Amino acid sequence: MSAEADPVYDVVIVGAGSGGYACALRAAQLGLTVALIERDKLGGTCLHRGCIPTKALLHAAEVADVARDGARFGVQSSVSGIDMPAVLSYQQSVVSRLYKGLQGLVKSAKIDMIHGDARIASPTTVSVGDRIVTGRNLVVATGSASRTIPGVTIGGRILSSDEALRAESVPASAIVLGGGVIGVEFASAWRSLGAQVTVLEALPRLVAAEDPAISKQLTRAFTRRGITVRTDTRVTGVTQDDASVTVEIEGGDSLTADVLLVAVGRGPVTDGLGLAEVGVVTDRGYVPTDERLRTNLPTVYAVGDVVPGLQLAHRGFAHGIFVAEQIAGLTPTPISDRSIPRVTYCDPEIASVGLTEAQARESDENVSTYEYSLGGNGKSQILGTQGFVKLVKSSTGQVVGVHMIGARMGEQVGEAQLIVGWEGTPEDVAPLIHAHPTQNEALGEAHLALAGKPLHAHA
Ligand SMILES: Cc1cc2nc3c(=O)[nH]c(=O)nc-3n(C[C@H](O)[C@H](O)[C@H](O)COP(=O)(O)OP(=O)(O)OC[C@H]3O[C@@H](n4cnc5c(N)ncnc54)[C@H](O)[C@@H]3O)c2cc1C
Repeated sequence: MSAEADPVYDVVIVGAGSGGYACALRAAQLGLTVALIERDKLGGTCLHRGCIPTKALLHAAEVADVARDGARFGVQSSVSGIDMPAVLSYQQSVVSRLYKGLQGLVKSAKIDMIHGDARIASPTTVSVGDRIVTGRNLVVATGSASRTIPGVTIGGRILSSDEALRAESVPASAIVLGGGVIGVEFASAWRSLGAQVTVLEALPRLVAAEDPAISKQLTRAFTRRGITVRTDTRVTGVTQDDASVTVEIEGGDSLTADVLLVAVGRGPVTDGLGLAEVGVVTDRGYVPTDERLRTNLPTVYAVGDVVPGLQLAHRGFAHGIFVAEQIAGLTPTPISDRSIPRVTYCDPEIASVGLTEAQARESDENVSTYEYSLGGNGKSQILGTQGFVKLVKSSTGQVVGVHMIGARMGEQVGEAQLIVGWEGTPEDVAPLIHAHPTQNEALGEAHLALAGKPLHAHA
């Protein structure tokens, strides 16, 4: 009996995270044959170590806050303890359900899932162990992994987000190194679950990619919640023993806590992938592409976190779908990072899309802005949250940036995205009716005000 020859696939994808599996599913829908290679688990970082487990942890943290704050609303409730193994089991049950669903989707799409460590062997082949998988097109979707700073090794009391998500107890005290998205999400969750938390950030402000007004409001809110925020603070060394971890700070100060979370960003996963050997150009490990997500080799594409830019799951999904359509001969519209919505799920939540005020001013001298306080929004008052919606308008009248902060404001990012993406003006949005009482009204009111007809807005 002769062995069946391996097929030549239309698309061979390395990495089955958000970017890779979205590409596989869309390619299969379009009638292409697909091999999807993964050395760990289908779903990648987002499903197993990122978006989903962190948001489950943050939801448990929110439940704790609601219980602790009951008296504010006339409900007698309190938190008698956090059962972390039970939190982890709830978190895992969410991940498992989604994982099962995703496995079903991939199977029913007749995608060939190949398990193993892949290496690009030529512009059209990938080796996985002894096997050579051939494709007319290859897609690099190997994602990103936590980085650390020189001299600080993850292990013991020094955690990356991967270990922090699996921690079986809430630390009594924690230092979070890095005030970016992942850092502030963990700081927020741990504080709600009862930890003393200090965030150390080398830059002058938290969430430095956001509009400075958002950073200021977040720092104020964190401070009110009892989270210590130290910006412009550089760490020079870290030591640990059986009892604690100590962080040395430039200038001679030091801090001690139960754990240190290193959240200083994520770097590309391309070491040993064979890209340089086959001639794919990389830049500090990232895979630069043109706007059609092609690398410098015509048969090799890249999607998701491995492509320089925003590291977000929905960017990966969009990249994956784009590349599948591109390979199938359609002409999808290029994806701009500028129009991708961003949500940070700390308390208070941050949601934004488009340009910050400073970015808009780089190319436009006559930018105008408006900040609508959630103090005038009925639903936000019911929830007891503070914050605002800030709009950035170009000199030609379009809303080019929306920046929001406050409990649950992430849910408002959909409309904000449509406005920015469709280049809407405040006058376009003003006639749209926003249901009362919702936090969505705050977005409507901000546009009413910028259109010159404020309703519940103080001058
Ligand atoms: C703690 C945390 C929270 C996050 N929260 C959010 C959030 O709320 N919202 C959001 O949008 N994003 C969030 N992200 C980011 C999001 O997870 C990533 O942007 C997304 O997972 C990127 O998808 P990807 O497909 O590019 O890479 P990944 O999901 O990292 O997938 C890459 C896959 O490739 C596999 N792989 C790598 N090399 C090889 C090889 N040689 N052979 C075979 N397989 C290989 C890996 O095992 C992995 O499964 C979060 C990330 C973290 C860490």
